[in-house]
Amino acid sequence: MDDIVGIDLGTTNSLIGVMDSGFPILIADSEGHRLMPSVVYFPKEAEPVVGRPAERMRAVAPEQTVYSVKRLMGYRPGESEKNDFSYPVKHTGGRTVLEVNGRTLRPEEVSALILRKLRANAAAALGREVDRAVITVPAYFNDLQRQATKQAGELAGLTVERIINEPTAAALAYGLDRLSDKSKIAVYDFGGGTFDISILELHNGVFRVLATNGNTRLGGDDIDRELVRLLKDRLTGRYPELRADLEDVVFTARLRQIAHDAKLRLSEEMAVQIEIPFVSKAQSFSYLLSRQELEAVARPIVRRTRAHCLRSLDDAKLDAHQLDEVILAGGVTRMPVVRQFVAELFQRLPNIGQNPDEAVAVGATIQAGMLSGQVQNVVLLDVTPLSLGIETFGGLMNVIIPRNSTIPCKAGEMFTNAVANQRSMQIKVLQGERELAKDNWQLGSFEIEFDPAPKGTARVGVQFEIDANGILHVLARDTKSGRQKEVDLSSAVDVSDEAVEKMIAESLDQAFADMAERVWTETVLKSNELLPAVRSALMLVGHQLTAEERDRIAGLVREVESALTTHHVHRLKAANEALDKGTQHLATLLIDRAMAEAAKRKR
Ligand code: AMP
Repeated sequence: MDDIVGIDLGTTNSLIGVMDSGFPILIADSEGHRLMPSVVYFPKEAEPVVGRPAERMRAVAPEQTVYSVKRLMGYRPGESEKNDFSYPVKHTGGRTVLEVNGRTLRPEEVSALILRKLRANAAAALGREVDRAVITVPAYFNDLQRQATKQAGELAGLTVERIINEPTAAALAYGLDRLSDKSKIAVYDFGGGTFDISILELHNGVFRVLATNGNTRLGGDDIDRELVRLLKDRLTGRYPELRADLEDVVFTARLRQIAHDAKLRLSEEMAVQIEIPFVSKAQSFSYLLSRQELEAVARPIVRRTRAHCLRSLDDAKLDAHQLDEVILAGGVTRMPVVRQFVAELFQRLPNIGQNPDEAVAVGATIQAGMLSGQVQNVVLLDVTPLSLGIETFGGLMNVIIPRNSTIPCKAGEMFTNAVANQRSMQIKVLQGERELAKDNWQLGSFEIEFDPAPKGTARVGVQFEIDANGILHVLARDTKSGRQKEVDLSSAVDVSDEAVEKMIAESLDQAFADMAERVWTETVLKSNELLPAVRSALMLVGHQLTAEERDRIAGLVREVESALTTHHVHRLKAANEALDKGTQHLATLLIDRAMAEAAKRKR
């Protein structure tokens, strides 16, 4: 049988599953663990170690142990980047590499090692090789991050049949036995490094994603970091002289491990005793950490998910009470403070029927089963999280595929030359919600050449296609010559991931100002069209006008020119309209002249 495996390639943990007799089964390693830490330890002169044994090395050899590499996948170094990894991460020449124990590695190479290990576990359990996979990514992963994930799969020897969004996968896991229902589901997915919220509609076996939102840099790791800070504060409170020693990278890694273990236990217990026998040669530290203290540091982080949830409800045009179910995914949702927050926000108790750590992998496995034909009667319709478009005249964003469009999808538009005898057009591919191109995210840019032609006569078609993996293919074609080009996304500019979340927020904050700017730019473009047309008409047929008419038109032209210097949109609009109206006679004369010339040529 030709298996396709489902893989949840998580920031913290990864899982692999396969359909067996119509059921999704998650595969355990030789020690019986299904959850494999997404951690790789690089010893000096030996093969990399992956998973649980690597996780143990994190506290011992933090600089040689790579964790949370998912956060670096497809990452474009931005100015706001804080380097909070315990291993060396370098951003050079627009690329991110890890330098561990003399090796230079790209993030996708590390992810490939994790995938290879999962693949080996599956092969050992099934007794046969697997080489086809479905891999999940956060809904908010952009194109480069999806490409990097796909590449990681390929480096691990897998054919990546499909990349699917994690919350969609979680909903699939929840909905498999309720295919005949009609319901609206919110998936609140809070993992180690990312937060995602999706609103889906399930109807007659069809899952439609109505909206997605999230934050690629918000997760349980943030809670760990805050807890480490709290413990360090308590430690310095007791031993002020140790302040400098506490910043040591090995000690911090050890403390992180302790904090993390305490955090997990505090999901079940009200308080845990923390013991650090050797803070220094002479001192040890013992501290009773309460759930209350943990919740005090976690709450502000959890609250940051609120705006994303409200935005996605708004996008789906739903009120919280119209949802039939809220399901939880991701390890962080085991925390009582998170469950309480979700219950308050959505005004209902979340569904905890699925194991939150496993829901995504189960869904990926079901999707794999759908592809291999083992699961039928389910259709998955996903959506694009951000609008895609190109820059047009005046620096405006021209949306080709709007956000929340169902994928796979294809859309195109025809563009023309703004200037006479232009020989080429720069196609800047943008992603984002802002009206002005400069405020959006440039994914890539390329040039398409065409034969010089009068202004407005070139015909360049631009087509965007998002495939089932959510990957964008851009094609531009000059319809006259048939010349065409596809975008090279590897030439992407430096924009940090935070910009994505920021952009969503800003597009709301700035909606009014953005719109005003768009209207102004469009009005300026209109003036720039009108003025040269009027001038050339005056040259050709101006002598047929009365002196009075010519003076009046000159006055109207002056008013447009002067309004152009003001940024006063109403004034410029009125001036354009007046000029347009006031030159109708001139336009008629021009047409008469053209017709007379055409008639002359015929004779
Ligand atoms: P995931 O990325 O879905 O594997 O989620 C991993 C995140 O969930 C990490 O930040 C874990 O520390 C956190 N996590 C896992 N189990 C628990 C638990 N029982 N209580 C609190 N946090 C947890």
